Amino acid sequence: MADPAAAADPAPTAAAAHRLQVAVDAPQHSGLSGPLTYRAGQAWPPGTLLQVPLGKRELLGLVWDDAPAQDLSPQGQVLPDAELREVGEVLDALPPLSASWRRLVEFAAQYYQRAIGELALSVLPPQLKEVTAKQLQAKLKKLAKLPPPAAPEAPPPMPVLSEAQQAALAQLDGLLQAPPDAAAPTPVLLYGVTGSGKTEVYLRAAEQALAQGRQVLVLVPEINLTPQLEARFAERFAGRRIVSLHSGLTPAQRLQNWLAAHLGQAELILGTRLAVFASLPRLGLIAVDEEHDPSYKQQDGARYSARDLAVYRARLEKVPVILGSATPSLESWHHANSGRYRRLVMPQRIGGGAMPRVRIFDMNTLARTKGVTTALTAPLLEALRQRLARGEQSLVFLNRRGYAPVLHCGECNWKSECPHCSAWRVFHKGDRSLRCHHCGFAERVPFACPTCGNLDIAPLGRGTERLEEQLAEALPGARVARIDADSTKHKGQLEEQLGAVHAGEVDILVGTQMITKGHDFRRITLVAAVNPDGALFSSDFRAPERLFALLMQAAGRAGRDAEVAARSEMWVQTWHPQHALYLALQRHDYEFFAASQLAERESAALPPFSHLALMRAEARTAEGAQAFLDAAAALAQALPDAQQALIYPPVPMSVARVANVERFQMLIECGQRSTLQRLLWHWLPLLQALKREHRGLLRWAIDVDPLAI
Ligand SMILES: [Zn+2]
Ligand SMILES: [Zn+2]
Repeated sequence: MADPAAAADPAPTAAAAHRLQVAVDAPQHSGLSGPLTYRAGQAWPPGTLLQVPLGKRELLGLVWDDAPAQDLSPQGQVLPDAELREVGEVLDALPPLSASWRRLVEFAAQYYQRAIGELALSVLPPQLKEVTAKQLQAKLKKLAKLPPPAAPEAPPPMPVLSEAQQAALAQLDGLLQAPPDAAAPTPVLLYGVTGSGKTEVYLRAAEQALAQGRQVLVLVPEINLTPQLEARFAERFAGRRIVSLHSGLTPAQRLQNWLAAHLGQAELILGTRLAVFASLPRLGLIAVDEEHDPSYKQQDGARYSARDLAVYRARLEKVPVILGSATPSLESWHHANSGRYRRLVMPQRIGGGAMPRVRIFDMNTLARTKGVTTALTAPLLEALRQRLARGEQSLVFLNRRGYAPVLHCGECNWKSECPHCSAWRVFHKGDRSLRCHHCGFAERVPFACPTCGNLDIAPLGRGTERLEEQLAEALPGARVARIDADSTKHKGQLEEQLGAVHAGEVDILVGTQMITKGHDFRRITLVAAVNPDGALFSSDFRAPERLFALLMQAAGRAGRDAEVAARSEMWVQTWHPQHALYLALQRHDYEFFAASQLAERESAALPPFSHLALMRAEARTAEGAQAFLDAAAALAQALPDAQQALIYPPVPMSVARVANVERFQMLIECGQRSTLQRLLWHWLPLLQALKREHRGLLRWAIDVDPLAI
């Protein structure tokens, strides 16, 4: 790049006169947003990893493409070579990260408003930042020596495809066979009811891509689902190298798997959202399973959507992307309606199994008895008894873990408030603790009411732990098991518990939404949601969409074996049986639900008909958090795009105080995505300076396309 200063002053460093742009992990807040310039003895190509000095530290950097000069001294002059610092050790045994990988990172950084280096380094395996060039070389040698996986003795059994699967695959074939110079294939929305065999479609499409010598990336929403899927892919593709990438791996495993992908040795990569950034030199296909799942959105740091980035990456690398779901996100559904995505429909369960009958049970029909909780209604207990008698399994879910959401004194009205949060502490009976699910603060349950000394303090409401206890009491002899975040804290516990369900050692499985996802339980004929109403009246406009997807998915757990499908049922206990969401659920009518939700969103100018960003501020006082957002909004008014944006007044978050920190948020809405992007681009740099004026402010963050509001 043009550099007059260097030309005028060639003397002191002629031997190390190459200038390199290096992306380093300096957060946006530091004000160092682009790559920094260093001096090196060799023109290392972009994508090379190396150590560089920054302040007093030495850290891992990534050689970036030449960009507009970032090496201006405070006077606005290009620094002479002598004032540039020299790079340290170069990890040159590793092939550089590709240009398309760098473009993906650049796009993500810009779109989600982060610094390039911060994002680039945060999506690399953490252990890469700790190894020396020598250690890395040793690891690469070891990888090269790994024997290829054993070839299969016999070809794997191939299930017969349904008509819908064949039709979907015929369409995908066209995309997979497209010549390399063709335009990027249209993203595919694979809309198939639960049990319609979406995984088989991914498998067959993957087979095609693998046969062409390409790599395949499969994303799943949760770590828990990777072993199951990995086993299925391993069975089908024996002889191929398959690796997983997720945060549950040890640092060494994660580095090894990442390297195998980067070197092109791994042909199939299964992973959670972070895998969307895997370096894949021969990428040929991306599949995103359960594309609607909120887990694809990162909830801190760079708040990216792996689903959306997968679509972007596929376009960038001109490869097909399949987004699969029984209840697509309304964004994806809208794109399919408008023709931006190609919709492939699989409307029936494999083997003709019927979807379970949905019974909406009206809680208003029960006789009201004061003080008696009725989550386990007599008709539901009867339905559970029938399953027990037939040796079938049931699944009962409730989205609240612990024994009871609050402990209460009937004398003085004391409740188990968290002293640090605006939330109740949850009563956990197992270890007799009161635990805050927001800040983690835990204490032993008091012997008597801390305020009035009353000995008779009682749990109010119900969590999974209490439901488990009540089921065991009401149905003596039944084998009841619970799966939630508490019962699966330790490594291996979840697998063990799921194993017990599969082995038929459990009659009734109780749990949170954890148990509704993906697991292929064959013998469940009853699924019951005991208290799902909460989401109907949430202030978050996406709550109904999430509830509908959750209930449809839960219903899909029942009757997966055709022989029991006919007597499979889903129970929904509700105080609002006429709610449109439940009526659509009863008919398994996603399309009706989606159309009505999209109409509501359009009239309210909500996504996908507008574009949102959420600015959050945290401070020691509510006034401090609010004042920062007010001042930020005032700054925005001077920007050119402010007229096309609607900036709402700051409001406290739904749980406003967590661990003694007050949290506020402010919604920014634009009709056009590009307007929102331009506004944020000009606005956010001003906030670095603003933060320095607001001393009580702890932190602020921006969430583009927020999922939870
Ligand atoms: Zn009391
Ligand atoms: Zn708390």
